[in-house]
Amino acid sequence: MFILDFDHTLYDTHLLSKSMKSVFLSYDILLDDFEKSYKLAIYGENGNYVNYTFERQLKILKKIGYSFDYNGVLDKLDALLEENRLFDDTIDFLEFIKNLGLKNILLTAGNDKFQKKKIEAVGISDYFDDIKFVHNGKEKLVKSFFSPQNKLFFINDNLQENLAVKNTVAEVEVLTKKNQYKNTEEELIKSGIPFFNNLTDIKKYVAGQV
Ligand SMILES: [Mg+2]
Repeated sequence: MFILDFDHTLYDTHLLSKSMKSVFLSYDILLDDFEKSYKLAIYGENGNYVNYTFERQLKILKKIGYSFDYNGVLDKLDALLEENRLFDDTIDFLEFIKNLGLKNILLTAGNDKFQKKKIEAVGISDYFDDIKFVHNGKEKLVKSFFSPQNKLFFINDNLQENLAVKNTVAEVEVLTKKNQYKNTEEELIKSGIPFFNNLTDIKKYVAGQV
């Protein structure tokens, strides 16, 4: 069985963020305010609850005094989701899992409506037996799917989450998809969790395990 993460694992979220930044800056929003409001919209005031939507970020910017064409920006941002930002090897990887005939779950942290929009826009929903949304604590859900009889691969870029999964159920085969914007090579080595540059390398590794 597989449990896959979406952002930065199957989907190039960094590219989306870059395009979003261009839209915001084109409406004369300062880079610093874009970045602060982006983080606040993702994590909220308390920092441990992932819940990003475009609307949340736009409302934060309005609140700090910006006046812009709300619906105009929102339309431009929504249009970004229609562009295919899967990694080059994502479909090949999903086909590989499909051909193995093993259960495949997509587990993504965030706002369910927003995440659903992103996932549906890139047309990969059919590769999954189920799609699960959480705001935090992926390890609880991974644990609920684990049974000692079945090998479970958890593939995700977030090292903190991966360590939490490993600490919760040591038998889960956790594989880290390297996120160059978040972790250094040293941190990845220190984690003791196997890590990979791309899905093609993960595919090769998994092929030798199943
Ligand atoms: Mg991720």
